[in-house]
Amino acid sequence: MLDADFFRRWMTVTAASVDREAERLTALDSPIGDADHGSNLHRGFTAVTAALEKEAPGTPGGVLTLAGRQLISTVGGASGPLYGTLLRRTGKALGDAAEVSAEQLAEALRAGVDAVMTLGGAAPGDKTMIDALVPAVDALGDSFATARTAAEEGAVATTPLQARKGRASYLGERSIGHQDPGATSAALLVAGLAEAAGE
Ligand code: ADP
Ligand code: MG
Ligand code: MG
Repeated sequence: MLDADFFRRWMTVTAASVDREAERLTALDSPIGDADHGSNLHRGFTAVTAALEKEAPGTPGGVLTLAGRQLISTVGGASGPLYGTLLRRTGKALGDAAEVSAEQLAEALRAGVDAVMTLGGAAPGDKTMIDALVPAVDALGDSFATARTAAEEGAVATTPLQARKGRASYLGERSIGHQDPGATSAALLVAGLAEAAGE
C-alpha cells in the first residue's frame, strides 16, 4: 500500500529531477516554444516541496491536491494549470484514504489524465505532455518501472510529430523534428513515481 510518505517522496524526487533537468527542459522549449518550461516547472516544484514541508498533509489525496494547487498558482505557463489539474484531479480521486493501492493510484491517474485532456483539448498524437502521460497510465497496471519506460518512449516519439496544441502549434510544420518539452517533463514525473517506489 502507498501512504502519504510515498506521495511526498514522489513530489520530492520529481522536484529534484526537475531541478537537475531544468536547463534541458528550457532548451527543448526554445525552438518550438518560449524557452521557459524548465524555469516554469522549477518554480512550481520548489513551491510544491516548500508547501508539503509546511503543511505536511497526512493522506495521499491531500499531498496531491496541495501539490496541484501550488503548481496552478505558481507556474505562469500553460503547463501549470495542466499539471496542477493532473495532480488535483488525481488527488481528488484518491479521496481521504490514509493508504491506497497501486491499482487505485492507476485508476486515479487515469481520471487525472482525462481531466488534462478535457482542460487542454489535446489528444494523443498532438505532441504534448499527453503523449507521455497516456502510455504511462496504460502501462501502470504492470509496474511503475514499465510506466516510466512507456512515458520516456512516448516523449521521444513526439519528435516527428507536428504540434496541434500549445505554443508549438503556431509553428505548424516547423514544429516537426523537436521533442516536446512537456512530454519530456511528464516522463520525469512518471520516473519520479518509479524512483519513489524504489523501482
Ligand atoms: P507555455 O507554452 O505557456 O510557455 P510551458 O512552456 O511551461 O508553457 O509548457 C509547454 C508544454 O505544455 C508543451 O510542451 C506541451 O507539452 C504542454 N501543453 C501546452 N498546451 C497544451 C494542451 N493544450 N494540452 C496538453 N499539453 C499542453
Ligand atoms: Mg514555454
Ligand atoms: Mg511561457
